Amino acid sequence: MNIIVLIKQVPDTTEVKLDPRTGNLIREGIDSVMNPDDRHALEAGLRLKESGGGKVTVLSMGPPQAIDVISEALGMGADRGVLLTDRAFAGADTWATSHTLGKAVEKIGDYDLILCGRQAIDGDTAQIGPQVAEYLGIPQVTYVFGMEEVKGRSMTVRRRIEAGYERLRVSLPALFTVTAEANSPRDPVIGSLLAACGAKAPIQVWDAADLGMTTAQVGLEGSLTHVIRTFPPKSQRAGEILEGSPAQAVEDLVGRLKERNLI
Ligand SMILES: Cc1cc2nc3c(=O)[nH]c(=O)nc-3n(C[C@H](O)[C@H](O)[C@H](O)COP(=O)(O)OP(=O)(O)OC[C@H]3O[C@@H](n4cnc5c(N)ncnc54)[C@H](O)[C@@H]3O)c2cc1C
Repeated sequence: MNIIVLIKQVPDTTEVKLDPRTGNLIREGIDSVMNPDDRHALEAGLRLKESGGGKVTVLSMGPPQAIDVISEALGMGADRGVLLTDRAFAGADTWATSHTLGKAVEKIGDYDLILCGRQAIDGDTAQIGPQVAEYLGIPQVTYVFGMEEVKGRSMTVRRRIEAGYERLRVSLPALFTVTAEANSPRDPVIGSLLAACGAKAPIQVWDAADLGMTTAQVGLEGSLTHVIRTFPPKSQRAGEILEGSPAQAVEDLVGRLKERNLI
C-alpha cells in the first residue's frame, strides 16, 4: 500500500504567545517539532507498510527548516520526503494550505491512503485533512484510532465518537485523520536519521512552479480569508481566592452560591 503522511512542523508549545505590536507569533527561543498527532499518523503508516508492504512518503509545507521534520520521519522509517517551500506560500490560510498540499499529492500520485494528524497544535483548526480529501474527491474519516484489515480496495477503521466508537469500511484511496490514541510512535533510528540528514537523502523540495501553481493561487494571495488582527483573549472577570482552610473555603463558597440561589 502506498501511503502519504502529511506532517507539519510546529512550535514545541501549546502556549503560543503573540507580539502585541505586530500580532505575529513569537518564535524566538521556542524549538520546533513534528506536530504530535502527525507522529501517530506516521507510526500508523509505517505499521501498515511493515504488515502489507508498500511505501511511505511524508509531505510537509513550511519554511526551509521544516526539512528537519522530514529527516526525522525518514529516520523513523519513511521512504521518501517532499518539502513544499516557497516565499509565496507564506500567509496561507487553511484553504490555500490544503489546495497546495492537494496539488503536491496529485504530483506524487499512485497513492492508496493519505494519513494526517487530527489537529495541529499551533493553527488548531483540524481543517486541513478534510479539505485535502475534498480537494482530491476521496472519502475521509476523521478521529481514526484503529486500522484493521485491508480487503482488496477497502479498509476497516475505527473512529472515536462521543459515546464510543464507529467501525467503518472505507473504499480506497481515502484520507484518515489520526488521533494520539492510535499507537505509541517509535523513536528515529540513529543510523537512518544520519542518512536522512546527508546529501543523498531521498528528499525533494518543490516550489509553487513545480506544482504548476501561480503566486495568485498560493499563500496570502491564494487565501480566501484574511486576518485583520490577532490578539490574546482578555480576561473578562476578576477571580477571587477564598481564604482559610479547605473546609472554611468550601463553606464560604456554598454560602455564596446559596445567597445567589444557584444551589
Ligand atoms: C484565517 C487564517 C489565516 C491565516 N493566516 C496565516 C498567516 O498569515 N501566516 C501563517 O503562517 N499562518 C496563517 N494561518 C495558519 C495556517 O493557515 C495554518 O497553520 C495551516 O493552514 C494549517 O492549519 P492548522 O495549523 O489549523 O492545521 P490542522 O488542520 O489542525 O492540521 C491537521 C493536520 O493537517 C496536516 N497539516 C496541517 N498543516 C500542514 C502543513 N503545512 N504541511 C503538511 N501537513 C499539514 C497535519 O497532518 C496536521 O496534523 C492562518 C489560518 C487561518 C484560519
